[in-house]
Amino acid sequence: MKTVIIGASFAGVHCALRAKQLRPYEEVVIIEKEETLGYIPSGLILLLNQHIKRLDEATFISKDALEKKGIHLILGTSATKFNFSEQYIETTKDRVYYDKLVLAMGSSQISQKLVSNHPGFLTYKKKKDSELALEKIELSKEIAVIGAGQTGMELASALVNKGKEVTLIESMSYPLYKSFDEDVIGPLISEMSQESKLTTYFSQTVKEIKGDNLESELTIVTQQNTISCEAAFLSTNVRPDLSLFEEQLDYHTDQTLKIDAYFETSQPNVFAIGDLVQVPSMLLNQSMYSPLINNAIRSGQICAENLEEKKVAYQGSIRVIGTYVFGQYLASCGLTEADFFLYEEPIETLILDIPLSTIEQDKKIKIKFTYNKNTKILLGVQMISRENILEKINRYTLAIESKMTIDELAKKDHFYHPLYANPVSDII
Ligand SMILES: Cc1cc2nc3c(=O)[nH]c(=O)nc-3n(C[C@H](O)[C@H](O)[C@H](O)COP(=O)(O)OP(=O)(O)OC[C@H]3O[C@@H](n4cnc5c(N)ncnc54)[C@H](O)[C@@H]3O)c2cc1C
Repeated sequence: MKTVIIGASFAGVHCALRAKQLRPYEEVVIIEKEETLGYIPSGLILLLNQHIKRLDEATFISKDALEKKGIHLILGTSATKFNFSEQYIETTKDRVYYDKLVLAMGSSQISQKLVSNHPGFLTYKKKKDSELALEKIELSKEIAVIGAGQTGMELASALVNKGKEVTLIESMSYPLYKSFDEDVIGPLISEMSQESKLTTYFSQTVKEIKGDNLESELTIVTQQNTISCEAAFLSTNVRPDLSLFEEQLDYHTDQTLKIDAYFETSQPNVFAIGDLVQVPSMLLNQSMYSPLINNAIRSGQICAENLEEKKVAYQGSIRVIGTYVFGQYLASCGLTEADFFLYEEPIETLILDIPLSTIEQDKKIKIKFTYNKNTKILLGVQMISRENILEKINRYTLAIESKMTIDELAKKDHFYHPLYANPVSDII
């Protein structure tokens, strides 16, 4: 069997590795349009925050490591046309035939809105875009970031740390709204309001951009404001680009490909994974677009298990994120209160401000539990602290996945140490 995977990022690479692990006899080929592979999309932020010295270090896998596993890589080559009935792909080099085709072409920081396609906007998901962005950052004092989701907030925070004058523009009324409720985010908002180098415009949508990033000045126009800057970053939602498929595959209105529980698209022997597809929500009776690395990896691995024969249905995701911005660690899993218009039963919430441990009373964690009012089954957890509490979110992710009630969670075996923990009965 010959499996051809288009796209050598998290989804494609993990699909290839799992396919080779399960079926060493299988011919696995990855076609990737870039000359290099394995770039970590937040490489620019890691560099600005001095966690790495060069963008080259922001790599999760090497060409050699994949070739050693027997995976055949065709780099610097784009898939340009698909013939699904005769099972071949046209590329910028040769025609490639397949038995199984896996589409792992991901998404980009370009939305469908007119304004976001302006050539003046910088993006940084790809290495070459990060390199260009880095040059522009070095030359600029005043920088605008459009979008206050996780990537926009991480960038704004890193730029402020680097001494830049940053303007953050967001159409929602507060940052990180997809994963956090406004009543949790208070400590972050107060931290941000004390940053003299940060100006925020919430509830404002960019209407127009004048100028070009290659020129010295850009003007961004929202409903209420006109903002001048030397560089502007687009950090709004990512979306797949389906234009190559020429309507041969079924897709959702949000431009994601339709798949079955085994990642097969509407065409037989053609699978789609990673940021190209929605994932089933473990908590809601529907699927959702959750473009995250852990979803890309897991979708790739499970797809590989189904290529020869459909065996393992994908269980889905509860959406778990963690980040550090403006001096605050934030983590969230499951549903926020704002998601509950999609949930059919009544819910209750509990917000606690607890000390980090019995001894460290002055170090606080704010934590919000959301659960089904009738059954007490846990549905979502959000946390914020100046301390690194990120790893704790995985405990709550497991609790939600296993449909634990909030009372059952309190009775589980948790370690206690006066310096590092609270007695669990004091938390819930
Ligand atoms: C700035 C930024 C930071 C992020 N940080 C995080 C994070 O910290 N944690 C997290 O969970 N998620 C993060 N994400 C989301 C994460 O990047 C994506 O969910 C993940 O990269 C999706 O992986 P993928 O393999 O599906 O697709 P992608 O990573 O988008 O890769 C698709 C690959 O396909 C190739 N390709 C596309 N078209 C073709 C073609 N026609 N022919 C050949 N090759 C092609 C592309 O060159 C690319 O290599 C971040 C996103 C952004 C934008």
